[in-house]
Amino acid sequence: MSQKNNYPKIAIDGPAGTGKSTVTREVSRRLRLKYLDTGAMYRAITLKLLREKVDLSDDQALEDILQRTVIKLNDKQEVFLNGEDVTEEIRGAAVNKMVSPVAAISRVRRRLVEMQRAIAAESGGIVMEGRDIASKVMPDADFKFYLDATLAERARRRWKEQNDKGIILSGEEVMAEIKNRDSIDSKRDDSPLTSVFDAIVIDTTSMDFEAVVDKIVDTISADLP
Ligand code: C5P
Repeated sequence: MSQKNNYPKIAIDGPAGTGKSTVTREVSRRLRLKYLDTGAMYRAITLKLLREKVDLSDDQALEDILQRTVIKLNDKQEVFLNGEDVTEEIRGAAVNKMVSPVAAISRVRRRLVEMQRAIAAESGGIVMEGRDIASKVMPDADFKFYLDATLAERARRRWKEQNDKGIILSGEEVMAEIKNRDSIDSKRDDSPLTSVFDAIVIDTTSMDFEAVVDKIVDTISADLP
């Protein structure tokens, strides 16, 4: 268990389309804890590398960009890249396509994990969501959850989310993108997407968002001092 003044640390992992972000945001609101969306950080660095047209196999160029890039998230979950608000842009098609290849690069992961651990250390208690939170970023988390759902349901949710924003994609396009990201995220060598042995696995396929939040909050509340 982590020190009282930095308690609780909650890890929520899972693939795209499991409702992780919406659930994590609500859990953090209900428990009054800091929330960190680590996917947004991988998206921000991907945007930076795309803008600077960096060759991903050029270690020196990558290192140089990593040293010059400051990623900040505020409590409203707005994302800033060297001070510029990129909240919308990191959700666009170009970043969607490249984020998993970028996130598979060890040098990138090392830098972002370091930043994520520093944020956790000064948080006073945090809910962090991603792919490797329980396995790598906070293996000492007090609570570990792994959200899952069938591929068809995850694709349906992602399609609806995009459609609600006015982005019209075919079901096949969404399915292909999710499959591709799942494959890269779970097969990479460095910290692949995985459910750790002591995580509580929640299959959200036929659960609504409130039920998932209730399950997580109830589990944590039962244990809080
Ligand atoms: O959560 P989101 O879909 O925004 O994450 C975008 C991508 O960032 C994921 O598909 C994955 O490649 C990468 N990611 C990661 N590790 C994390 C969070 C996200 O590799 N902790």
